[in-house]
Amino acid sequence: MSSVVSNPSFSNSKPISLKRNFEDIGWDYGVLVDPDNLNRIKCKLCGLQVSAQIYWLKLYIAGIRGQVRACKNSTKEDKERCKKAIDDSKHVNMARLTEQQEVRDTVDLVGAPDADDDTTMAEVEELDGGWREDH
Ligand SMILES: [Zn+2]
Repeated sequence: MSSVVSNPSFSNSKPISLKRNFEDIGWDYGVLVDPDNLNRIKCKLCGLQVSAQIYWLKLYIAGIRGQVRACKNSTKEDKERCKKAIDDSKHVNMARLTEQQEVRDTVDLVGAPDADDDTTMAEVEELDGGWREDH
C-alpha cells in the first residue's frame, strides 16, 4: 500500500500586482491599428475603427446601451464575456444609468356592498291623550 502524500498546505497566493492592460479581455475583440496610439482600436468582429479605450470596446462588444452602440457582429457569447469582464473590473460605474421607475397603481377596493339594514321604526302609536268628561 502506498501512502498518499498529501500536499502540505502552503499558500501559493502571491499577489497579482501587475495587471497589465493587455490582458484585458477587450483585446480579444480589438486590435491596435496604430502601435503608437493605444486609443486607436479596430474591432476584430466587424472591422470598425474607433478612437477609444479598450474599456469602450468591451461596452461596444457587450452591447451595453446608453454609452455606445453595439457591435453588430458580436454574438451572444461575446456579449456575455464582455459583460462579465466589465463587471469584474469595476472601473467606472458609468454604464449603469438606468433609472427604475416605479409606477404605483392605486388599487381601489370596490365590491363590499353596504348592508343597508336601516329599519326605520316609524310606527308611532297615537295615544288618545284627551279624555272626555261627561257631565
Ligand atoms: Zn464590431
